[in-house]
Amino acid sequence: MSKMFKISLPDGSMREVPEGSTPADIAAAIGPGLAKAALAARVDGEVRDIMRPFEGDAQLALITSRDEKDALELVRHDFAHVLAEAVQNLYPGTQITFGPATDDGFYYDFAPAPGRGPFTDEDLPAIEEEMRRVIARDEPLIREEWQREDVRDFFRRTGESFKAEWVMELPEGEPITMYRSGLGENAWMDLCRGPHLASTGKLDPQAFKLTRVSGAYWRGDPKNPMLSRIYGTAWLNRKQLQEHLVRLEEAAKRDHRKIGREMDLFHLQEEAQGSVFWHPKGYLIWRELEAYMRRRLDSAGYTEVKTPQLMDARQWERSGHWGKYRENMFVVPDEIPSTEDEGPVLSGEGDLMALKPMNCPAHVLIFKQGITSYRELPIRMAEFGCCHRNEPHGALHGIMRVRQFTQDDAHIFAREDQLIDEIREFCDLLDSVYRDLGFENYAIKLALRPDQRFGSDEEWDKSEQILRDAVAAAGRATQEFGWEELPGEGAFYAPKLEFHLTDAIGRTWQVGTIQADTVLPDRLDANYIGEDGEKHRPVMLHRAILGTFERFIGILIEHHAGKFPLWLAPVQAVVATIVSEADGYAQEVAAKLRAAGLRVETDLRNEKINYKVREHSLAKVPLLLVVGKREAEEGTLAVRRLGSDEHQKVMSVEEAVAAFAEEAVPPDLKRVN
Ligand SMILES: [Zn+2]
Ligand SMILES: [Zn+2]
Repeated sequence: MSKMFKISLPDGSMREVPEGSTPADIAAAIGPGLAKAALAARVDGEVRDIMRPFEGDAQLALITSRDEKDALELVRHDFAHVLAEAVQNLYPGTQITFGPATDDGFYYDFAPAPGRGPFTDEDLPAIEEEMRRVIARDEPLIREEWQREDVRDFFRRTGESFKAEWVMELPEGEPITMYRSGLGENAWMDLCRGPHLASTGKLDPQAFKLTRVSGAYWRGDPKNPMLSRIYGTAWLNRKQLQEHLVRLEEAAKRDHRKIGREMDLFHLQEEAQGSVFWHPKGYLIWRELEAYMRRRLDSAGYTEVKTPQLMDARQWERSGHWGKYRENMFVVPDEIPSTEDEGPVLSGEGDLMALKPMNCPAHVLIFKQGITSYRELPIRMAEFGCCHRNEPHGALHGIMRVRQFTQDDAHIFAREDQLIDEIREFCDLLDSVYRDLGFENYAIKLALRPDQRFGSDEEWDKSEQILRDAVAAAGRATQEFGWEELPGEGAFYAPKLEFHLTDAIGRTWQVGTIQADTVLPDRLDANYIGEDGEKHRPVMLHRAILGTFERFIGILIEHHAGKFPLWLAPVQAVVATIVSEADGYAQEVAAKLRAAGLRVETDLRNEKINYKVREHSLAKVPLLLVVGKREAEEGTLAVRRLGSDEHQKVMSVEEAVAAFAEEAVPPDLKRVN
């Protein structure tokens, strides 16, 4: 008599099935629609093949394309296998290595057959065709458990030296899974942990595209052979793929590195990896943004401080950063280098210091100066703090991911009874800042306790509830604000609220955060005198709205595609002449605009007006003010707005000065006036 397993389903129901049954059997028993839609199964929380038999009583949830995250990951991994099979069909002698899913698709690393050069972009269309044939054959993907040595012998026999090498490094004694694609002798085989869909035919042949080829070393080590990495993007259906391709195209047009060059905003160079050289125009954007944030913080009751770049390692030990965060810190010996020509420049005996990777400990040290009474709380301490983090070169990306950055950082030292109000007020401030900067949509997420954590469950219950209540009090724990709780994603010492901006082309960027922390005040022994005359620990709220200036300006550039609102545009207007007789008049107009506080340049070059228009449009100057003989005589100018199809508008100089000066007022000051 066969054993029976109890399988419980998400709706609370339970089914008894004989040993040997699979999630696919249950799907079929529920109905043919589900049997067709089910892609894989979550068994006791683990994603598994739908054809893999149950091993005992289990909790089962069937995965369909509506479980988009799981479905995408499965599909992308399947596409990687289909790619590898297709490449080996077309180019016998090619060896397979690894091929994981990525954020938008997959890649696979191949060792081309001896004598054949690396793969190139020209190979991709033929490979795509062959992949579609593999999908059309609807080959079942079958999971098999093998012995390590058998896998090695199999791959040796088939000439797969990379796979044969790799399998022997897997832990001995653990079952090793091979996936067979198709039936019969010549089924394509890959060593893989899985899981996979039931067959290649579950993939939409119109939902993927191979995108590029690059070199990659076997196991990432430059001492090893160079492989060809073929990348693809993959989705659940054709519509998703098309939307993604449009997004990529749009994103490339908006790339902040490209626009940064065209607008002459900044540059980066080898000698200062991950640190930005801000050019005058880029730094103007920074200054406007910083001035805006400073006004907002001043009026929200923050005080601003400035703290040291370098602090002794002992201080970082006390704060806990030296233990947990050291590999991200730039360490500097406190020693005068020897000036002798020969020998080591540094003795290695000096005390160690480190550039600050964050501002928090220094703010606690300011808080600890003198005695603080409960009446003085909350203290909102802000710093446009320049920090350094030692990111690997490969992780750097334009001004979005850098090693030297400036945060719009602040720490609020508060009593527990003040937390909800403080967090609610922070939510309001952040909302207003995002709207002022041109972002209408953002999502609020609560990252909850991770598995590895400090503190008792009671403390976590309390701190999570405070964040929840505060967002609800701000009226933003709603669908409109994308309110969502993320289990397991909090920091090890506290839960946190995350604020994710949606940009003009639908991408999301996590920028703002707020987090209540009792660990650091504890470690650094910060306290205040309570109403009872006793010492108490303050809670420390770590919070940022923009995140960092570098990344936020990068996001602003891509969001606006360089077409900044007038108040943020580095050059707000160019007065361009049609004829040299208008030169004097152009300078007069420019002077009047400057006197009204506008950032104005003149273009008196002896060039055709169309040429000037094109050039200033590329530099994304919002207002182009064209003057010729007639304008000079009449005291007018012809206004062309960037990106506007409207015909140019003729205005008197006085009219123009008043209108543009008004338009260039930053949004917060407009509200005051
Ligand atoms: Zn696989
Ligand atoms: Zn902090």
